[in-house]
This record gives sequence, C-alpha cells and structure tokens, in this order.
Amino acid sequence: MRPDRTAGLTTAAQHAHSFLESLDERPVTARVDASAVRAALGGPVPVRGEDPGAVIDALAAGAEPGLVASAGPRHFGFVIGGALPAALAADWLVSAWDQCAAFHSLAPAAAAIEEITSAWTLDLLGLPADASVGFVTGGQGANTTCLAAARHAVLARAGWDVGKYGLNGAPPVRILCGEHAHATIYTALRLLGLGAETAIRIPADDQGRMNPEALRDALADADADADGPTIVCAQAGNVATGSFDAFDPIAEACAQHNAWLHIDGAFGLWAAAAPATRHLTHGVERADSWAIDAHKWLNVPYDGAMAIVADPDAHVAAMSLAGPYLVVDPGQRDNTNYVPESSRRARAVPVYAAIRSLGRAGIAELIERNCAQARRIAERLATIRDADIINDVVLNQVLLRLPGGDDANRAAVAAIQQDATCWLGGTTWNGEYVLRVSISNWATTDDDIDRSAAAIERAIRQ
Ligand SMILES: *Cc1c(COP(=O)(O)O)cnc(C)c1O
Repeated sequence: MRPDRTAGLTTAAQHAHSFLESLDERPVTARVDASAVRAALGGPVPVRGEDPGAVIDALAAGAEPGLVASAGPRHFGFVIGGALPAALAADWLVSAWDQCAAFHSLAPAAAAIEEITSAWTLDLLGLPADASVGFVTGGQGANTTCLAAARHAVLARAGWDVGKYGLNGAPPVRILCGEHAHATIYTALRLLGLGAETAIRIPADDQGRMNPEALRDALADADADADGPTIVCAQAGNVATGSFDAFDPIAEACAQHNAWLHIDGAFGLWAAAAPATRHLTHGVERADSWAIDAHKWLNVPYDGAMAIVADPDAHVAAMSLAGPYLVVDPGQRDNTNYVPESSRRARAVPVYAAIRSLGRAGIAELIERNCAQARRIAERLATIRDADIINDVVLNQVLLRLPGGDDANRAAVAAIQQDATCWLGGTTWNGEYVLRVSISNWATTDDDIDRSAAAIERAIRQ
C-alpha cells in the first residue's frame, strides 16, 4: 500500500480558513504569552507518534491563543504586511512541491520562476534589467548579501581577493552610513567582518535623510586615499519617518570617489512601483545594490526578500557555491549562486504569485492606498489636543508625539495595545519617545483606519 501523503492537509486547511476568517475582527494582540503555549504544546518528547490530523488539531488548538493578528488589517506596528491570497496559496504549493531550489538540475521550475520574478521585480522598480537578484529570507539577508557583494567588489578594485584571502591583511574598507541606517545594516557589517563600530555615521536631517554635503566631505577627506575601498549605505524608506535619502547627489558623490552605493529599501523601495510616490526614489537606479522585502509591503507571507546587485559578477563571486561535486547545468540559473544558502525552498514562487495577482496596476494601487491611509490617520490623530505629527507623511509611516513627556507617550502605547482594536508601537525619534503607525497591509480599509483612529483617541483620553 502506498503511504497517504495528504493526511492532515484538509485539517490544516480548515484551521487556516478559520484563522484567516477571524483576522478582520479578532483582537490584534495575542490572548496569552508564550508560557501558555508551552504548557499546551510542551512536555517530554512523545514516546509514540500520532496521526497527522491529530497533530495538526493539537498544534492549532495550542498555538491559537498565542497568535497575533499581524497579518490582519489593523496591525500598524513595525512595518508588517499581510499575505495576499495568491501568495499564501502559492506558498502552500511550495511546501507540497518540496523542491530543493538550489540548483537548476534539481528544480528547473524554481530556476525559471526565479528568473521571471527577478525580471518583473527589476521592471517594477525601474532598476537596471541586467542586475542580478537573489531570493533571501528578509531585509537582513538582503542587506548582508548585497554588502558581501560590495565587499568583494571594492576590495577586488583595490587588488585584493577577499574570497580567497579573507580580510586578514586586506586594505581597510571604509563604510559610510546615514545616521539612521537600519539596525540590520550593522548586523550585516558585523557578520562580514567589517565591524559595526568602525562605520562612519553621516549626519541626517530631522526626517532622517542623510546630508549629501556631509557625505561628499566624508568621501573626500576621510583619508589621503580617497578612492580606497569604500561602501556607502543609503536608505529608501526610513523605518520611523518613511523618508528617502537624496539619491542623485549621493550617487554622484559615490561615482566621483569610486565608492559602492548600497540602498536599503526594505519597504520603501516599493514606492518606485507607484506613479504617486515614484519621485521619492529618483536616482535610485544609479546605485550598485538594493535590498527589498517581499514580506512587508508586497504582502507575501514570511519569509521573502530580494538582494539585488547591479554587477552580477560581484554578486556571484560573493555568494556562489563552487565545488567540483556540484552538478551545474551550463547556461542555466543555479539559484544558490545569489544567496548565502545552499538547499532552500523555492522562495520566489509566492513573490511571483503576488506580482501576478496584483499586476503593475494593483501594486501601484496598493502602495498609493496605504499612503493615503497614512495621511488619513495622521489627519485624525493631529486633532488630538496638543498632539503633534512630527514627520512629513510622505509614505506609509506616521509619528505621533503626545504632550506629557516620554512616560505619557509610553502609557498611551500600552493603553492602545491593551484596547487591541489596533496595534502600534513606539520608537525613539530625535531623543524622544513617540508613537509609530505603519500602514502596509493589502486588506486595510478606510473603515479600519477610522475605527483605529477612534480607538487610539479613546485609549489616550483614558
Ligand atoms: C524591516 C527592515 C529591515 C529588515 O528587514 P527584515 O525583513 O526584518 O530582515 C531592514 N531595513 C529596513 C529599512 C527595514 O524597514
């Protein structure tokens, strides 16, 4: 008798249906913390196995109270997307197909879908069509992969093969980052042996935009060898304010000093795909590498992001698996050559489905709708007595500062989270604790915005 390969799938689908149907109305926060889930699902290693359906039932029942409705329409914390139906369904297929998407010879469909999705992504973002794309786990993976390519390329120009000889004895690599570079840039620098503390931080304005003059000065006078190996990290979409660096003057300065320009555009780079926001990304195509998430604003389920490099040779040199035992099909794409992993799931498939289900017009509409919703909630919150919207709402991020100092703002965040109509967090901006609203879910309606604004006002009044 053949094994039953589909046992448990119907049960899982039923649980998935009831969870997804609960998303619009369930409280946004989890009902319990991890200890309740540990009590429900933990214990010693089971001695005997159970039926797949029973395992799925127990898993769903034990996890359910600990689930956060972050995929729902009123989770405005961090920068979190939901899951478009086509992307979610495609993600299920990825698991069912269970392809080892590392090599063309193992998974030709996955190789082809990565190629197609790469070309579509570059087209949507207005990036060079001959850039290479690696499908990584998130913005962290994308920044790390791009900066590995950068490290390889700038050291190669200085006559050093970092792949062969590593950093011992290498010319020092100078890193220049905007003052508000995302934390994952510094993690990437640590992982790559470049050091988080040695990065020179270029001052930014009150919206978090790197000062291009200060960058130009730093590039010119950091040392006598102004054309030594240098990497500059700029940003498309500040995680607090949503602001964009001025890419044209930054790219100009980098070109003059032969520096590699990397752009962290985890969510903000999607602005390039919408007519109303494209101007924010002007000049972005002049960079050498770009990091962009799929699981944030494109609303692909976790995990998915793209590491994009203008020079495919630098990308592959930094990432490729080169071993004589590997079967390589000449002329075909081996996905592993663009990412740190070897064996991996066919991560481009849900991205493909998301793009195909929205189309160019639908992606533009999603970006523009969420930005309009950010302006809508900002207008409502600005009417709260003595409250200030402290950022220019150019994208999907809103920063609100209430009177009464940091403690009052912290208490407001706690009250809003407790109310659980919507969820938002706090952040520190220019030394002050503020409330942050981020709108990046495909399913958020204007009614969700109004309900959330009312809940925020109510929680603050109490
Ligand atoms: C979210 C974010 C990251 C990190 O992305 P992950 O997908 O969480 O790894 C990096 N940079 C910026 C600007 C971000 O918003």
